[in-house]
Amino acid sequence: MRQDQEDPYQRRSAQVYAAADRAGSGSVASPRHVLYDAVLLDRDGTLIEDVPYNGDPEKVRPVPGARAALDRLRAAGLRLAVVTNQSGLARGYFTGEQMRAVHARVEELLGRFDAWLVCPHDDADGCDCRKPAPGLVYAAARELGTTPSRCVLVGDIGRDVGAAMAAGAAGVLVPTPVTRPEEVAAAGWVATDLPAAVAEILRRQQAVQPSNPPTEPVRTALVVRSDSAGDVLVTGPAIRAVAAGAERVVLLCGPRGRAAAKLLPGVDEIIEHPLPWIDPAPGPVDPDAMRSLSARLGAVGADQAVVFTSFHQSALPLALLLRMAGIDRIAAISDDYPGALLDIRHRVPVGVPEPERALSLAAAAGHRLPDGDEPVLRLRRDAVPSRPADLGDPGYVVLHPGSAASSRACPPEVATRIVGALADAGHRVLVTGGPDERAVTARVAAAGGTDLGGRTDLAGLAAIVADASAVVVGNTGPAHLAAAAGVPVVSLFAPTVPFGQWGPYRVPTVRLGDAAAPCRDTRAASCPVPGHPCLSGVDPGDVVDALRTLAVSGGGGR
Ligand SMILES: [Zn+2]
Repeated sequence: MRQDQEDPYQRRSAQVYAAADRAGSGSVASPRHVLYDAVLLDRDGTLIEDVPYNGDPEKVRPVPGARAALDRLRAAGLRLAVVTNQSGLARGYFTGEQMRAVHARVEELLGRFDAWLVCPHDDADGCDCRKPAPGLVYAAARELGTTPSRCVLVGDIGRDVGAAMAAGAAGVLVPTPVTRPEEVAAAGWVATDLPAAVAEILRRQQAVQPSNPPTEPVRTALVVRSDSAGDVLVTGPAIRAVAAGAERVVLLCGPRGRAAAKLLPGVDEIIEHPLPWIDPAPGPVDPDAMRSLSARLGAVGADQAVVFTSFHQSALPLALLLRMAGIDRIAAISDDYPGALLDIRHRVPVGVPEPERALSLAAAAGHRLPDGDEPVLRLRRDAVPSRPADLGDPGYVVLHPGSAASSRACPPEVATRIVGALADAGHRVLVTGGPDERAVTARVAAAGGTDLGGRTDLAGLAAIVADASAVVVGNTGPAHLAAAAGVPVVSLFAPTVPFGQWGPYRVPTVRLGDAAAPCRDTRAASCPVPGHPCLSGVDPGDVVDALRTLAVSGGGGR
């Protein structure tokens, strides 16, 4: 399922109050942006001060700087919608008429919104639209003529961010005194106030617009992404952007990233070589190997090199090899002073999703995605095989308990209980893992799933993931395969690296696990805390609930 093609909530009976007189306003032409078409805003505590169950227009007080911030978004051509839970309607604390008077006052003070989406229900109603359910986000995107993945939602509590993520939209948390610390810890994107959230939305939009366009056409571009499969997959949109501006693209990757590199559209040729300043368990530096790598890179004849790295890696050692290979246009992200090693030294603030971080480097090197290509992860169709026929119909749930870094793996006993809970809820569960994870997958699958441990390579796993109704997985490669297939993710995310950078990108997601655990931001490969508490506390019932939030039902449907 691609999230931009199918909207599971379209088939449902979510009751959404929309501004009927403004239906179709989404057809208004606006400038084409790479990342977002629309900004969705929570009402109480985000746009205006939270006055519980307010039915009185006189009590409407905008938050500081709201009008100017919203006008900046309007001026940039972004459409605006309000998405708000108003359970006071269900509880009879105010009438629909009073609410409309409040909204008229909000527009008087803050300007016009292109749509208003209101959930009138209470938690007890079990509706699809009360945040953190994603129904309002789907409805707003539809009303504005776009898709959730091209929306960013700004809100003040975890419910807002949860609704955004469950629809595949971006979510910005602007905490207030009532925001709970665990909600702040779990959010991938936090801003200090509404004007700051708006400034960062506009900065990210601008950062992926090309600057420094090459003065001569690029015949051969050398792009570099070392490290593992997930790193290579999240660089895919940036590599497609470079490919759109170059006749030929050669990718230098490491041995652990090669299988993923073969799945990427836009790559014409792959060079595989380990880089001892990138690999997590490097051998000693071999001068002959470095000399031969430099010669091999020189033979590529690249007229531009774009070196992609993670925020904790350095591009500079490779830049030196590229200089020695005679490449004279080199772009990379570097906080460290690069001297004469880089022609384009790009810098990115922390917290930006890895795919956007890489896209912004491609933009700094003069490249952007071609029209019609969305900034989502994608795989080459011809590189993904057919799914084994013996797995039955699509619509199963994939549980992938392992990870190359044990700190990011789901503890086997937790995975076992998750399989049991999913099976009890009527889900068909396939348990996947690499050849070295067979003992774990066998044990986990014994609780009620099918063991596929060691049965597939990465491309085969991509085929299995593509026909899943959801994937339950930690922060590891298959999460990005799911994102590339548009398959919803229940992310058992160990907070060793920032969720905002490494969470599944532009795909409906529910995050589980303790985001404030002591391993947070340690980048540890093996868990530094006894008991692996960030994931050992995951409640299997929460995984079942997460699938419900993602509109994935048991029995193979979605
Ligand atoms: Zn509702």
